[in-house]
Amino acid sequence: MADSFDVVIIGSGPGGYVCAIRAAQLGMKVAVVEKRATLGGTCLNVGCIPSKALLHASERYHEIASGHAAEIGVKTTGLKLDMKAFHAGKQQAIEQNTKGVEFLFKKNKIEAVHGTGKVVGKGKVEVALDGGKTRTLETKNIVIATGSDVTRLPGVEIDEKQVVSSTGALELASVPKKLLVIGGGVIGLELGSVWARLGSEVTVVEFLDRITPTMDAEVSKQFQRVLQKQGLAFKLGTKVTGVAKSGKALKVTVEPAKGGDAETLDADVVLVCIGRVPYTEGLGLEEAGVALDERKRVKIDAHFRTNVEGIYAIGDVVVGPMLAHKAEDEGVAVAEMLAGQQPHVNYDVIPNVIYTWPEVASVGKTEEELKDAGVKYRSGKFPFTANGRARIAGMTDGFVKVLADAATDRVLGVHIIGPDAGTLIAEAAIAMEFGASAEDIARTCHAHPTLSETVKEAALAVDGRALHM
Ligand code: FAD
Ligand code: NAD
Repeated sequence: MADSFDVVIIGSGPGGYVCAIRAAQLGMKVAVVEKRATLGGTCLNVGCIPSKALLHASERYHEIASGHAAEIGVKTTGLKLDMKAFHAGKQQAIEQNTKGVEFLFKKNKIEAVHGTGKVVGKGKVEVALDGGKTRTLETKNIVIATGSDVTRLPGVEIDEKQVVSSTGALELASVPKKLLVIGGGVIGLELGSVWARLGSEVTVVEFLDRITPTMDAEVSKQFQRVLQKQGLAFKLGTKVTGVAKSGKALKVTVEPAKGGDAETLDADVVLVCIGRVPYTEGLGLEEAGVALDERKRVKIDAHFRTNVEGIYAIGDVVVGPMLAHKAEDEGVAVAEMLAGQQPHVNYDVIPNVIYTWPEVASVGKTEEELKDAGVKYRSGKFPFTANGRARIAGMTDGFVKVLADAATDRVLGVHIIGPDAGTLIAEAAIAMEFGASAEDIARTCHAHPTLSETVKEAALAVDGRALHM
């Protein structure tokens, strides 16, 4: 096996594996070092894919358990949750996707090297192979794509059984009676929803005074209301100061974030999800002289170059939203740059989706960001209650909001809470990528009856011309 490559990528997540495929397409000789047994990184193994598999299955269960299916004549008796099959479905989704990456590596003649990679000098990656041996790969370029890890909460030890991170929350063998979620962000609300749908009493403890603090505030507010209707409870402006085990039960001490009296909450399982941190452990970056920023992310310039020539970094380990599609786009960009092309990632148009029910999706600026920046804008809003297709499905919670520049009408941001928001947001992203105005969306013919008509109507509403409201 040759040990000399054009590019060696450390990490096979969405950043690394997509970078590898694009580099191979462009004629480069590529190796990817991965310490996990399977390819695909956090996303395919313990992130996007398994969480969406559980969201999908729990949603089907809840449709019947909540009586929604019966309301439209789909009556069932003897509803039962088979936990073994529930987890097996998730495992199948993981395997199909990780094997898919294996297939793509073979197809593109990319070598997967299983072991822990370390940068040992310019153009040199040493791999501690799974079997115990060491192999040194020589390469013209190194791409660091090592992703991120769970942020720990001081004093709260994660055992992945009773006190879990997202990884343990994807594996719970039974439905906890009481689930306490620390952190009202994406993971807390997605995985909190999964277990709430299956019958857990879920309480979300959030340090700030609102959930999903980086989303548009109006959307966050509505989101919290809808989740409360589904039975989730929220303790905002509250911090967890300790989790004590007493046999199978947990006693969680919380107090107001601004100080005040402490109280104790009971839980069977605690999920810690207060963000993720870049993962650079054991990579040898310090020895190699690669600089990190103030948040321990690998420091890069606008071309993904670190301060050491020939070493690049992408994905969760660098600045920017920790999202699979952002990592993928950066992977493609680095590969194309190495091939002498001039790619570009448009960080102003990266969609963000929360896969709860209803889904929440956004792209571009929030109202708060526009106000802070002193940008004058017009807003158009359209509710799903006024959309025929949403009414047919009984999925009328939520709205679409289009924010457009007051002077030029250029779309600056789109925020959606509602059915299939994650798919609807793609239309907004394309429009923004092409520099569209709200009028451009409003004048585009949208099929009837579809949920996408809400986007057109919200664009019309920017100019006060919504037709069905
Ligand atoms: P990763 O996917 O983290 O991959 C890095 C890989 O590098 C890992 O496999 C790791 O084992 C390997 N590695 C690290 N160090 C070394 C080393 N020294 N040697 C060899 N290998 C090494 N994002 C979305 O866009 N949509 C979602 O729906 C979504 N859902 C998520 C759900 C959960 C529960 C979690 C935790 C995350 C979710 N994310 C989602 C975020 C998404 O998973 C990450 O943004 C994405 O995986 C980042 O890709 P990456 O390539 O940068 O790193
Ligand atoms: P997050 O940043 O989405 O949310 C963390 C939440 O915890 C925030 O609301 C924060 O204010 C709160 N918090 C922080 N410290 C706290 C404390 N001590 N006590 C109580 N609350 C506290 O992080 P996450 O939910 O852990 O997810 C990590 C990352 O994974 C996300 O940033 C996201 O990029 C990615 N992810 C994406 C998706 C998706 O795209 N659908 C799904 C899951 C994860």
